[in-house]
Amino acid sequence: MKKREIDYMNVLIFQDGSLKKYNTLRLEAKAKNLYLPLNVDGIIETLEFAKGRKLVVIGNGSNVLFAQDYYDDSYVFLITTMMNDMDVVDNEIVVDAGVSFHDLAWFAMDHQIGGYEFTEDIPGTVGGALIMNAGQWQWTIGQYVHWIDVVNRDTGKLQRLIPDDDFFQYRYTKLMDMNVIVARAGLNIQPGEYNDVFFRMLDFKKERYMKQPRNYPNAGSVFKRPTKDGETYFVWKLFDEVNLRGYQVGGAKVSEKHPGFIVNVDHASVDDCLNLIQECTVRVKNHFDIDLHLEWRVIK
Ligand SMILES: Cc1cc2nc3c(=O)[nH]c(=O)nc-3n(C[C@H](O)[C@H](O)[C@H](O)COP(=O)(O)OP(=O)(O)OC[C@H]3O[C@@H](n4cnc5c(N)ncnc54)[C@H](O)[C@@H]3O)c2cc1C
Repeated sequence: MKKREIDYMNVLIFQDGSLKKYNTLRLEAKAKNLYLPLNVDGIIETLEFAKGRKLVVIGNGSNVLFAQDYYDDSYVFLITTMMNDMDVVDNEIVVDAGVSFHDLAWFAMDHQIGGYEFTEDIPGTVGGALIMNAGQWQWTIGQYVHWIDVVNRDTGKLQRLIPDDDFFQYRYTKLMDMNVIVARAGLNIQPGEYNDVFFRMLDFKKERYMKQPRNYPNAGSVFKRPTKDGETYFVWKLFDEVNLRGYQVGGAKVSEKHPGFIVNVDHASVDDCLNLIQECTVRVKNHFDIDLHLEWRVIK
């Protein structure tokens, strides 16, 4: 039987491309196959090509650690950032997976919609945020979702999900247990006065900039807040007690400003990051008998 030809009409394809701009840690890594869909059909075309290969989905790469310097032909990287339409339709914001959280905040403000101020300074895409219920303080994206359109990675079929009550939890969503790619979502609209929204957004940003290391590339909090015997701990406090603040392996360093972050201070390699993570995990385990779990996704 003749193999079906795929017309790659809806996806941009690059070979042997750099992944540096697709991870906010700015690690040097390359991939044989980079696919950037322009729409849902582009996701489906990428899935066709990816049959028999390992498919890695990336939004803005602000929560991932690449664990290899080169991903060969057995991998396909699907990067969503070219899927970036957003509009108000029937009293919802309908937003593509590749839209940045930052743009969502400014779009909402321009349309006098409130509630999305918390998204302005989180450097991910809507798709990446939906996967892990990103948020800050009392706000998480899950609170705003009416529906999510996903493409099933096995069947290539588009499906609409309506989240139930426990769909979104702390840095977890049921999407994590489904074999799907987020394509777009319908989000709630509530009125917000332009100036109120604007100043709240700037306040949030200022507070975050005062606390977080923004002078070096990083990928946000490295570990989830651990719990032991029903008590939740701040990672930075644990790190301070075992002298991890400022601890450095090669070009990767536990931030002096906020030890919950690992920063790339000098051309950090994948191994630098992995060895530093290992040291942090071991010290905390030995001293407090607490297991740390990565918030980052390690792309093996
Ligand atoms: C300076 C800084 C500050 C941060 N602050 C916060 C914060 O306050 N709160 C917070 O929650 N996070 C924060 N983060 C982490 C990060 O920005 C969020 O987790 C964000 O939601 C990740 O989105 P992304 O598009 O970058 O995802 P990526 O890092 O590209 O991917 C993360 C995971 O989602 C999957 N994924 C991405 N897109 C899709 C899709 N369309 N379909 C299916 N799977 C997909 C990937 O496969 C991967 O497993 C911060 C990061 C940085 C660098």
